[in-house]
Amino acid sequence: MDNVLSTKDLCKKYGKAEVLKNVTLDIPSGSIFGLVGRNGAGKTTLMRVITGLANPTSGTYSLGGIPNTDHKILSVRRRMGSIIESPAIYKNLSAYDNVKLQYINLGMTSFDTIPELLDLVELSDTGKKKAGKFSLGMRQRLGIAVALCGKPDILVLDEPINGLDPQGIIQMREILLRINHEKHTTILISSHILEELSKLATHYAFIEKGEILQTLSSSELMSKVRKASRLKVSSTELLCPVFDREKVEYKVEDDENMDIFSDLTASRIISLANGAGVEVVSITENNESLEGYFMNLVAKKDGIS
Ligand code: ATP
Repeated sequence: MDNVLSTKDLCKKYGKAEVLKNVTLDIPSGSIFGLVGRNGAGKTTLMRVITGLANPTSGTYSLGGIPNTDHKILSVRRRMGSIIESPAIYKNLSAYDNVKLQYINLGMTSFDTIPELLDLVELSDTGKKKAGKFSLGMRQRLGIAVALCGKPDILVLDEPINGLDPQGIIQMREILLRINHEKHTTILISSHILEELSKLATHYAFIEKGEILQTLSSSELMSKVRKASRLKVSSTELLCPVFDREKVEYKVEDDENMDIFSDLTASRIISLANGAGVEVVSITENNESLEGYFMNLVAKKDGIS
């Protein structure tokens, strides 16, 4: 798989604050690449740098193989669509007119494909309604339509799911998947909620305090998320020494509930518990959450665990 975008040791400083620290990333062509980080981690700054809204302090990036130091980057950047912070739309224009204006800005003279584009973002029935009267989700979707006007190879979306209601989140996810599958557009999307990205991303980079903590594919992530069994027992206190002795990995929730991460059969768990005079009330699958995985990574960086 070729990379649409690569960064090498990108750094960005604001005064003395190092907001990006040696960010090295490869975004494969055709991927939906999730950039996951807490508030203030540096997601927007990274997106601002690669879209040309801010200059890196040091380091380089390349788009479609063209380095940012090459003057050709200006024309290559036209192959990139983005929504950073808020969508670039005119509130006093309808959805159709917003898209038409962008076509004109790009020097396009035929407007035949506008209905298809509005259909793709599920805005074909908004008629003369002005964008200022749109819901947040509609404005985001119109922003995506505008960003798609130049048929970009890559779409860069900064927290497009933020603030949307559950229905709006599902709609946005389906639209992004459609854009990726039908138009083969690579998507770089940021969020502070891994769980939401996990329903569409094919690759991930975790960022914290301007540093990339880990990059991995969705299948690698899924295999790393630990399988757990949730036990409800009469006493976790009595069971812990038994599990310690047997080198069973576990985490105690409270006096009666605990998760174990080792591959033990139910009968083995029951036999170990009974040996310690502990009653097992229930055993259920309780896989470690994606959010838990991400928070563990961040905690390791902070030296908490
Ligand atoms: P959020 O989800 O809150 O937008 P983020 O991951 O996108 O977070 P950034 O907006 O990139 O994070 O900010 C990273 C850090 O850089 C923050 O500490 C922020 O205060 C700082 N920062 C961003 N832009 C500037 C600026 N123009 N001048 C000074 N500091 C800045």
